[in-house]
Amino acid sequence: MINVMGQDAQVELFLKTADKGMLAHSFIITGPDGVGKSIFARFMASYILCLGENKPCGVCLNCVRVKNNNHPDVIVISPKNSIGVDDIRNLTEKINTKPYEGDKKVVIIKGADLITVQGQNAFLKTLEEPPLNTTIIMLAENINLILDTIKSRCQIYKLNRILTSKVKEYLLSINVDEQKAELYSNLSDGIIGNALKMLDSKYQILRDETINIFSRMAQFNSLDFIKIEDFFTENKGNIDSVFDIIITLLRDISVFKNTLREDYCLNIDKIDVIRNLSGVFSHERLNKFLELFLSAKGNIDKNANFQMAITVLLLDLQEV
Ligand SMILES: [Zn+2]
Repeated sequence: MINVMGQDAQVELFLKTADKGMLAHSFIITGPDGVGKSIFARFMASYILCLGENKPCGVCLNCVRVKNNNHPDVIVISPKNSIGVDDIRNLTEKINTKPYEGDKKVVIIKGADLITVQGQNAFLKTLEEPPLNTTIIMLAENINLILDTIKSRCQIYKLNRILTSKVKEYLLSINVDEQKAELYSNLSDGIIGNALKMLDSKYQILRDETINIFSRMAQFNSLDFIKIEDFFTENKGNIDSVFDIIITLLRDISVFKNTLREDYCLNIDKIDVIRNLSGVFSHERLNKFLELFLSAKGNIDKNANFQMAITVLLLDLQEV
């Protein structure tokens, strides 16, 4: 059975609607990156294609294949860039082909918020009159980018962040050891996908390096400027993670400085660094650092010139 961890309310809503025979032909699943939208979509596909009595049974041929991502009548579209009118034409062709096997087909469109306005308008007709027995499931991080005319034709499921205790429970269930499960659930922001990314050894190396570099920055000396700038440039591809690691650490330093409570900190494996830096920082400097990192993160998210944003950040930090 596909485990839609922590999204019990939405699963229950879906099952109730489905058991009453009230399922729509088109759905939107929305929620932050990593929250489980794809898994929820596969759970739905499993229900729709299940051959068993108690759907989704989790054990019939179809349930097993949906779970393993190899059912021929579950088509997954994952666009890298925006989806324009031409792409929608190709997509509509795919939607209109007959199922390979049974009489039902499920089309999952990831990144539906990447469909341009023209693309969405071109897609309306397909949503209004989908081929018989075809279900369309659109996944969107930002539902505000989807036109009302599209939304009004879909049943919408909104997935939320879950309790970190639930994230931990999930990590333990996939045999992550207790210490790591505690740490990464702390840092997950209630999103299982975040915790799973952190299990990657590359992430763990990046985190250690970032915290090292940050400790040096906190005791800034201009000789380090080039080295630190290089570090940010080298990690341009993971800059969101780098900023998140630093911002979480700053938050911990601030909490520790105010409360002297280790158990309030999220980076439980870095207590020595937190303790040490809480002595180095004044409250004022800590707040200023946090402000500058948040603002640099925001600027880079808004596609500001990367190198410029980093240089400005480092110069500003030196002034603090
Ligand atoms: Zn089944």
